[in-house]
Amino acid sequence: MKIICIGRNYASHIAELQNERPEEPVIFMKPDSALVLKQHPFVIPEFSQDVHHEIELVVKINKVGKYIDKKFAHKYYDEITVGIDFTARDVQQKLKDKGLPWEKAKAFDGSAVVGDFINKIDLQSVDNIQFKLTNNGVTVQAGESKNMLWNIDEIIAYVSQFFTLKIGDLIFTGTPQGVASVKSEDLLEGFLEEKQLFRIQVK
Ligand code: ZN
Repeated sequence: MKIICIGRNYASHIAELQNERPEEPVIFMKPDSALVLKQHPFVIPEFSQDVHHEIELVVKINKVGKYIDKKFAHKYYDEITVGIDFTARDVQQKLKDKGLPWEKAKAFDGSAVVGDFINKIDLQSVDNIQFKLTNNGVTVQAGESKNMLWNIDEIIAYVSQFFTLKIGDLIFTGTPQGVASVKSEDLLEGFLEEKQLFRIQVK
């Protein structure tokens, strides 16, 4: 199982980090060891003083595909949730400055939180989902899938040109604005529409 992530998929988040708007989706990956096990806390790693939360919609691939046409991409996933792409922003900034890959900042153990999945047939449209992250009960990030630069079907089509998608692969689809540092004792909760799909303690 692999975890494929899309960066810079919301104009509002590109602006807050003063990044360039990409001409194509930005892709990076996390290994399966990045997943936080259910009921476990997120432990801030020693090598970072500035770990940010990034709430994102996450889709789970349900069949093998390569060179998937955009118009068939919807057949390659049934389930969707919210997750966190934890990012060691200080480490990432150093890597970006040197033009180096982001893995140490993005793919470390515990850097991927995935909520409980819901079936997309229970949603009106995957292109019109509202989701949010709360920290100690206060909303810190809120996003709408209609504001993605590339929607889910376009992401699946694009990614599958480079990587064969397999059953159980996860795609993180990018974060909206509002990324910020986490600290010990934070309680992060992810919601898709009004449904709470994860709850994780920071240590
Ligand atoms: Zn992200």
